[in-house]
Amino acid sequence: MNILSNPIEYLKGVGPQRADLLKKELGIFTFRDLLEHYPFRHVDRTRINLIAEIGADTDYIQISGKLTSAGTIGDRRSRRLVAEVQDSSGTIELVWFQGISWIEKSLKIGETYLVYGRVSFYLGRPQISHPEIEILSAAQSAKNFLEPVYPTTEKLKSKGLGGRQIGKLSYTLLELLNEKEIHENLPAQILKAMNFTPRIQALRQIHFPSSFAEHESAVRRLKFEELFLAQIRLGLVRAERHRFSKGVVFEQVGELFNTFYNHYLPFELTGAQKRVLKEIRKDTATGKQMNRLLQGDVGSGKTIVALLCLLLAADNGYQGCMMAPTEILAQQHYESLNALLEGMPVIVELLTGSTKTAQRKKILAGLQDGTIHIIVGTHALIEDPVQFNNLGLAIVDEQHRFGVAQRAKLWKKAAVPPHMLVMTATPIPRTLAMTAYGDLDYSIMDELPPNRTPIITVHRTERVRSQVMDFIKAQIAEGRQAYIIFPLIEESEKLDYENLMKGYENVKAYFPEPKYWISMVHGKQKSAVKETNMQRFVKNDTQIMVATTVIEVGVNVPNATVMVIESAEKFGLSQLHQLRGRVGRGGHKSFCILLTATGLNKEARERLHTMVSTSDGFKIAEKDLELRGPGDIEGTRQSGMLNFKLASIVQDKELLQAAHEWSDQILESDPELSSPANVPLKDYLRSLHGKTAWSRIS
Ligand code: ADP
Ligand code: MG
Repeated sequence: MNILSNPIEYLKGVGPQRADLLKKELGIFTFRDLLEHYPFRHVDRTRINLIAEIGADTDYIQISGKLTSAGTIGDRRSRRLVAEVQDSSGTIELVWFQGISWIEKSLKIGETYLVYGRVSFYLGRPQISHPEIEILSAAQSAKNFLEPVYPTTEKLKSKGLGGRQIGKLSYTLLELLNEKEIHENLPAQILKAMNFTPRIQALRQIHFPSSFAEHESAVRRLKFEELFLAQIRLGLVRAERHRFSKGVVFEQVGELFNTFYNHYLPFELTGAQKRVLKEIRKDTATGKQMNRLLQGDVGSGKTIVALLCLLLAADNGYQGCMMAPTEILAQQHYESLNALLEGMPVIVELLTGSTKTAQRKKILAGLQDGTIHIIVGTHALIEDPVQFNNLGLAIVDEQHRFGVAQRAKLWKKAAVPPHMLVMTATPIPRTLAMTAYGDLDYSIMDELPPNRTPIITVHRTERVRSQVMDFIKAQIAEGRQAYIIFPLIEESEKLDYENLMKGYENVKAYFPEPKYWISMVHGKQKSAVKETNMQRFVKNDTQIMVATTVIEVGVNVPNATVMVIESAEKFGLSQLHQLRGRVGRGGHKSFCILLTATGLNKEARERLHTMVSTSDGFKIAEKDLELRGPGDIEGTRQSGMLNFKLASIVQDKELLQAAHEWSDQILESDPELSSPANVPLKDYLRSLHGKTAWSRIS
């Protein structure tokens, strides 16, 4: 057994009591845990500071000076030993509350000392309580190092395991380790090309570096190691899926696809659309199951790609389904597919929670006997009674709304799992996609259809609300329509509802009937009511749509040219971007107006600024990641792939990119990691994850 698996109580200086605390307080159970409990900073003890350098934000400091006085003051509980040290720049007080008489005896007035400790301020004057103190001539050489400071807790501190004391344990541990216990796990070619410190050395230096530069290069190596191992693991999962998963084969591009492509397609496909279709076409012909994530910015034209894929399935005798997160969206997809397919011998049906019983029965029968080619729907599609004749392709729109478990249910709707195409309109930064979705294949549509007039985005405050309303009036006078969106803050549904109603009354006051008509859609409505309101807006019977974010995804009303977002500071970037994507869908110039209160905080201002300055979904996603961190980006929360000890996919983008490229290169030339150069890597992964297959994904 490897020494690193030893229980922490076996380490000299730990013992059962401290071991208990280390386990409870810091989750340190083994030698390995302690080794990977990295210091969060180092105190520079190579330098001797001047007392005059002490400022409000100084904490640990090392000084050297002459002891000018020492004496006990106070009585009983306030009894303490106070000494004063003077250097060329000033004086500082040293204070002890314990061990007073012993320390007092050892102090020599007039002697020059090396003093080290944490500065605090008492009545505005700096002091150091319980410093380390030694006569300078004896100490000088021994104290010339960077001292690690570790994360700890109050409880541990009170038991003598403060941020610095833990360093003593780390030191003891590192003394025990050698190359036999700590194997190199990176292939030699990477070490060489990246100029990385060997593993054991990096581990020593991250704890006890002799310079900040040395520490930095140790950190860099260990961060790379984390990212690289994660990339390799994802690569292995992906490769295993490719090797073992069976999938139906779409052998040919047939009659339906070709007829549609040549005679019904209303526009020329963009280069990105064509490329993605090729990728999908290639995937589905291999006999392996396709499991592909399609990232396309709002309005990049994913629907038509989906439709062409569904026709490809039909051409090969397979049914296809398309699942959307809301009824409104499912309804819209259903209508747009039907409109596009008008005149073609393709049967498309819609199944949602509100499909009437008789209709539902008919649809279930049609799916089972294969007369329905394409079914569009909501969650209703994954329920048990829905049985297919031969489902060959399942498309999930706006994937972040569905969990992995829900997607997995679609797999089970056919003897051989159907090809999966997961489409998302929330662009995910490439770095995040690499880690969170590295086990999926992914395609990116980073090109918008031509002739889009860019959306003009502005930020306005409450004060000019009436001007904003006048602007809407002018647009309506030109025949256009407008959205006015209110925020939804989940904690307080009631308040949200009241806000929305107040907002609605307000809008009504500006836009009185019968000159204007208003639709309102929100989450609490019955779906029939929602649908009616939506349809009235689609038909331009109403000119204004007042809504909460239920309309965020997918809704397509090309005549709408104004998107007003109320309390825009309360929305996240990706939501704002989604909402803005509802306009600019027709030939008319469109506007997005972000209405906010005044006096916003810095982050909110930055978000709004981002929206005003770019409409590139990928750039916005990068900014979002930067502002919020990966943990909060939708759809990634459950991903265990983002929990790195040292690395951050935001700050260490370049390292991640390098890790990604190296991982690809190594797996490409040696997919099983069986060449001698890669065996240490494979062994290391095994020691971490066991010998089982690289976990399957759904
Ligand atoms: P999203 O990717 O957001 O789902 P849609 O599929 O709804 O985007 O497409 C947005 C709009 O762009 C639709 O009105 C669609 O008809 C149109 N569109 C899609 N592809 C093209 C293209 N290649 N050329 C012109 N218009 C296109
Ligand atoms: Mg869409």
